[in-house]
Amino acid sequence: MDNPTDFACTMCGRSAAEHEKNLRFLLPDPVLDSPEQHEAAGSWLSHGNPNESVMMQIPNIGPFIRALLPVQLAGGGSLTYGVWVAIHPEDLQRTFAIYWEPEYADLRLTGYLANSIEPWGMLGAPVELAVKDTEQTPYCVGSPDPVLADVLGKQWPHDLLDAASQSIT
Ligand SMILES: [Zn+2]
Repeated sequence: MDNPTDFACTMCGRSAAEHEKNLRFLLPDPVLDSPEQHEAAGSWLSHGNPNESVMMQIPNIGPFIRALLPVQLAGGGSLTYGVWVAIHPEDLQRTFAIYWEPEYADLRLTGYLANSIEPWGMLGAPVELAVKDTEQTPYCVGSPDPVLADVLGKQWPHDLLDAASQSIT
């Protein structure tokens, strides 16, 4: 649309801006549920804190990378979850080596969702990642898991905006 600021949704009355939401999980669920979380001895974070970090490795739990998981809403708009994905240690090394390099554009990864995303859950669902924008973390682009494949491929009701207004940690 040409002028999104004038747009009010005929389905729910919200403004256009309220149909584009980003929700960022602070930690992978297995890290959140661990006693020392990201402060366990030997932990490595790509940046100064979990919110800024795009990769982390926690002893005995594993390496994780952030990814964007976009959900299209029926009638327009989208909800984008910033999730953590568990990846293989070798993939963490490979990713870290190119993350700030041109080769990053061609990065492909497979891993497992490390956050439970309401209302679907999906913790542990296998997921394929690809880079769409070199200024951003990879995107979740596909999954052999039927629920996650539907989340990525279908349109979802506006009610998700209400669920998404709850805080996530
Ligand atoms: Zn609406």
